[in-house]
Amino acid sequence: MKKIVISACLIGEKCRYNGLDSESKAVTNRFGGDSLIQICPEQMGGLPTPRPAAEIVGGDGADVLDGRAQVVTVDGEDKTAAFLAGAYRALEIAQAHRATYAILKSKSPSCGCGKIYDGSFTGNLTGSDGVTAALFRRHGIEIITEEDIENET
Ligand code: SF4
Repeated sequence: MKKIVISACLIGEKCRYNGLDSESKAVTNRFGGDSLIQICPEQMGGLPTPRPAAEIVGGDGADVLDGRAQVVTVDGEDKTAAFLAGAYRALEIAQAHRATYAILKSKSPSCGCGKIYDGSFTGNLTGSDGVTAALFRRHGIEIITEEDIENET
């Protein structure tokens, strides 16, 4: 059975910054029978739930990995270290399971792939990856979002 890493909020875990989930019926309907490996990089990096919203400022997830950008909360607190710790922990878990495929929550500063908020806290999006998504890409893990699956159905 194919092992798939998944953002825990997509399958009903209430681990989002606001204490809610982002359950996607399209995801559970299609992948419910597979071996899903849940991750929540932000919780795994030690952040509480609920927690202040955060966005990447000064670049994208790859820039955060390379020390050129920060993850900052809406209150101005720098949470870069927690986001990095969670991303590397999520990678360790994926690699321990030999997973090569991940379904990650769109637009998140951790899990978002191909589209994240632009750091202005105004709802604007930019075409790039969150921290965990960028790390997964660097390590050859194929990533899609729940929106890709929902758009197929
Ligand atoms: S998007 Fe990722 S980091 Fe955010 S709550 Fe969902 S699993 Fe956790």
